[in-house]
Amino acid sequence: MFKQIELSYYFKDLEPHIDELTMNTHYSKHHATYTNNLNAALEKAPELSGKTIEEIFTSLDTLTDEAQKNAIRNNGGGFYNHNLYFDTMSPKGGGQPEGKLAEQITKDFGSFDVLKEKLTAAATTRFGSGWAWLSANKAGDLQVTSSPNQDNPIMETKGEWTPILGIDVWEHAYYLKYKNLRVDYVKAFFDVTDWNKVAANYKEVTA
Ligand code: MN
Repeated sequence: MFKQIELSYYFKDLEPHIDELTMNTHYSKHHATYTNNLNAALEKAPELSGKTIEEIFTSLDTLTDEAQKNAIRNNGGGFYNHNLYFDTMSPKGGGQPEGKLAEQITKDFGSFDVLKEKLTAAATTRFGSGWAWLSANKAGDLQVTSSPNQDNPIMETKGEWTPILGIDVWEHAYYLKYKNLRVDYVKAFFDVTDWNKVAANYKEVTA
């Protein structure tokens, strides 16, 4: 049974950047549904039992039933991606990273501002629903990409790249407050990004 992460803050705590109703609906409805549907789909896939979610993402090609594969890909992505998303937001967020992650950002992108520009571009040019990602590989390199739907870099690269920060650009993540202005939502997201948590994720991938 996969479970949603527990939040270390209340839905209202990310105001005014991300509004309470959006947070509540996003976590209690959207994320809960992905998680329930994933668990239901896995009940019919005993060959995947005992695997981590990362292992499931890299085993998708072993599933021959297309409907089952799509259910596990879409709901598994929805489960995992939102765990990462909610975990890297904090009312004490914003600012910029320090330490090893900050050094690598400078090395790979030139500066933190350039990284933010690249993430914003990935988020705003993703057509339709999807995600913008900052990912790391085991060697410690960083890259910015985007994915459609609930896909993620683990699925797309067979586990070579792991996301350490994800920006949800589905309309349900911002429409109540920001309407069609996705770029304003991305700006607001950076005001609540928990870079300490992103740095911890980076450390875990490169350990
Ligand atoms: Mn979402």
